[in-house]
Amino acid sequence: MFNSKGETPAASIVRSTCAYCGVGCGVDVTVTDGKATGINGSEDHPANFGRLCVKGTHLIDTLDESTRLLTPEVSGHQVSWSEAIQTVADKFTETIAKYGRDAIAFYVSGQLLTEDYYVANKLMKGYIGSGNIDTNSRLCMSSAVSAYKRAFGEDVVPCSYRDLEQTDLLIFIGSNAAWTHPVLYQRIERARQINPEVKLVVIDPRETPTSSGADLFLPIKPGTDGALYNGLLCYLANEEQLDTDYIAQHTTGFEETLKVANEWSLAKVARYCEVDIALIEQFYQWFATHNNAVSMYSMGINQSSSGVDKCHSIINAHLATGKIGREGCGPFSITGQPNAMGGREVGGLANQLTAHLDIENSDHQALVQQFWQSPTIAVKQGAKAVDMFDQIADKKIKAVWIMATNPAVSLPNTTKIKQALSQCDFVVVSDCVANNDTLEFAEVKLPATGWGEKDGIVTNSERRMSRQRASQFASGQARHDWQIICDVAKAMGFDGFNYQHQQEIFTEFAQLTGVDNQAKNRRLFDISGLGQLSIAQYNNMMPIQWPVTTENPQGGEQIFNDGRYVNDDLNAKFYPVVPSLPKQQTSNEFPWVLNTGRLRDQWHSMTRTSIAASLNEHTSKPYVYVSHQDGALLALKDDQIVKVSSAQGSIEVAVKLSSVMRKGQVFIPIHWNKQFAANATVATLFQGVVDPISGQPESKHVGVKIEAIDYQSFGEIYVNNAIKITSEYWLKTGLKHSDYWQLASQSLISFESLQQSIEIAGEWICQSQQGGKQFQFICLQEGQIKIAGYFSTTAPVISQPWIDQLFEQKKLTVEQIQSLLTKQSPEDAEATRKVCSCFSVSKGEVITAIVQGCQSVMALGKALKCGTNCGSCKPELQALLDEHQHEIPIKQLA
Ligand code: SF4
Repeated sequence: MFNSKGETPAASIVRSTCAYCGVGCGVDVTVTDGKATGINGSEDHPANFGRLCVKGTHLIDTLDESTRLLTPEVSGHQVSWSEAIQTVADKFTETIAKYGRDAIAFYVSGQLLTEDYYVANKLMKGYIGSGNIDTNSRLCMSSAVSAYKRAFGEDVVPCSYRDLEQTDLLIFIGSNAAWTHPVLYQRIERARQINPEVKLVVIDPRETPTSSGADLFLPIKPGTDGALYNGLLCYLANEEQLDTDYIAQHTTGFEETLKVANEWSLAKVARYCEVDIALIEQFYQWFATHNNAVSMYSMGINQSSSGVDKCHSIINAHLATGKIGREGCGPFSITGQPNAMGGREVGGLANQLTAHLDIENSDHQALVQQFWQSPTIAVKQGAKAVDMFDQIADKKIKAVWIMATNPAVSLPNTTKIKQALSQCDFVVVSDCVANNDTLEFAEVKLPATGWGEKDGIVTNSERRMSRQRASQFASGQARHDWQIICDVAKAMGFDGFNYQHQQEIFTEFAQLTGVDNQAKNRRLFDISGLGQLSIAQYNNMMPIQWPVTTENPQGGEQIFNDGRYVNDDLNAKFYPVVPSLPKQQTSNEFPWVLNTGRLRDQWHSMTRTSIAASLNEHTSKPYVYVSHQDGALLALKDDQIVKVSSAQGSIEVAVKLSSVMRKGQVFIPIHWNKQFAANATVATLFQGVVDPISGQPESKHVGVKIEAIDYQSFGEIYVNNAIKITSEYWLKTGLKHSDYWQLASQSLISFESLQQSIEIAGEWICQSQQGGKQFQFICLQEGQIKIAGYFSTTAPVISQPWIDQLFEQKKLTVEQIQSLLTKQSPEDAEATRKVCSCFSVSKGEVITAIVQGCQSVMALGKALKCGTNCGSCKPELQALLDEHQHEIPIKQLA
């Protein structure tokens, strides 16, 4: 985007990649006068062909410098870059000299680009000489990695997105893709419109927007997926639907695996999974009789104490039927982060070396050390994420560098994580934001570039590498992660980090993937065909799937089509899976099963998505979703604040009674944390139980109890200044023009005490009722609203956009002041809630259109445009149609 003078043309398009999920959509960013001003899906990007989901659509809204970390800091003081770098280098050198190389750790992230990741791994494994680098992708897909490696001999995803469109049978298991990977889900929807014969099966304990579109939904008991796929293998054998030639020619271990699977009759599976036997038989029959099948899975499978085995039970069924290595087939694990795959490639996991080489293989160690010409090389696995923070707590690890991730929110048992960080000798955090729950513990804060400024490579879930390109200059003094890492390495006295441009890093890495990549050390991850890219070629690089070699410069879409795997005997391995239930079980004290997951419009710990007000409109607060039956049992009401506790800890969230929750199960989203709520970080409730092979935490299943809290006083505040809130319960949401706070206290909140704690000068007007238990107030400065508050003995429901909009106005009218003081009813507020964030269409508008005669999602799209961009709201539109269609006057229907 920059010309040779570092200037930008007045308006241009920068082709980049979305910052969020592992779909890896291409984006065309419009840049005007050096600033990103618009965004569209890239029409020719093979991941999305022009589509974007609502998060991608609003990416530009998140480029807000006011939230950024702009200057390096040491011990709370702003310092120069050279001082910050030297401080880090000296402390690391001193720690290694005193306590050894394993006393240092890096905790990195799937948000890093491949070049950042590569040099971080090179520094830790080749120069510090420890395996102690792990990534937050450990929490997302490390079970899938381990299962692929165990089955194929290498961590290779054997599918492409095109397989999802070419298949006859698509199975989503443990994935709410309609919300988590929306553009892929839209591609599938389109393929099903073109070919209505394609069957969609959804397997999930919870009814979700994904299951609402399924031909067959199996609401299994949480954690029983492995048994379901064992039963499938047993059924396939009994029905003589195995591909015996494929098994004989390309696999090993089938007999032992079938022996274990044979214990899982249909009847036993139905009892174990608590699903109607006819539904299970239908699924098995479809799998047996369809020529093609893709099983697509993500964290519902991976985040389990037996995640690797669950993944392998899925792989077993595909190997046994030869439904792998050809069009429309395969066990397809999709990733949650933009460059989780890149981390797997460079060795960002503590149990890998780099370039898919093994950390405990002496040939591989020698190969890498020789290529790097490094002084040392890690010879054993380092600490995986949960273990890493245990070792910090035990003071074995004395210094940690956390890059682009927020473990104080995302790792299980956040109380322990925070304690570990608070007592750690030296915590360095590089991030693009100024505030998050982890930065609170940092002695050194290093400002890193964020999306829109970063420039490098990301790999999506189908092994496709795309360029993320800068559309703006770096904010403040922010620098690229790879530059920061290389500067620290050089300040520690290490050679091998003298890169001038990220292209040099990428081409070095690409060359490494081809070194000695033959019979003995063969690996399919080979991108040596990109090892000679010039800067111009690198800058213009088009999306490409690996492997990319000199013989195959166009990359490879189909993998394993020759039936040759990477194990020494070139066969794939079956593995006998003995299903086990989740470890964090329910008990008399904690009788409800808590499941967790993502919401449609938020991302991870909300540091980015919370900035885009439109993304806060869909779900404005952390809820615990409870079935109506359980709600009645516990006498719960919608929006009532409750305490949800496990054996590990407790949080406070509001209740949402839901017709899609099964009795005995509850659901809480993962996003909220200390930046947005007093106590709603759901990871607090988990113990840190992990899969013994992958080390991935079990974050989808824990026994909890739910208790009402006796709050006496409730309030909501709209304010466009920073304020300090001290009540026991609070929740903050960014609206377009103001912040919206919800508060609750066990003692009565008075207007006087509140006014004292909020330092805003101006003309305060307060009206009170019920002896001060209920009051409304506003504060005006020269006729402009600065704060509005409403307090009473009942909980507020949802923010009201009309109040937020008044903050834009220079001078309020008398009528507006009056309506501010009297406020609308909560029913009206619910009606204004946005259903379609892309076109800002409210629930009330949708219901009106339905009542006026729109009888389908398509008709609503024609009338209001809702659902016609990212399509994520289509399931909700359908639900509103189902709920309100009967309200259409008979005359109109006739
Ligand atoms: Fe981004 Fe949405 Fe595409 Fe994921 S599906 S990459 S979040 S636009």
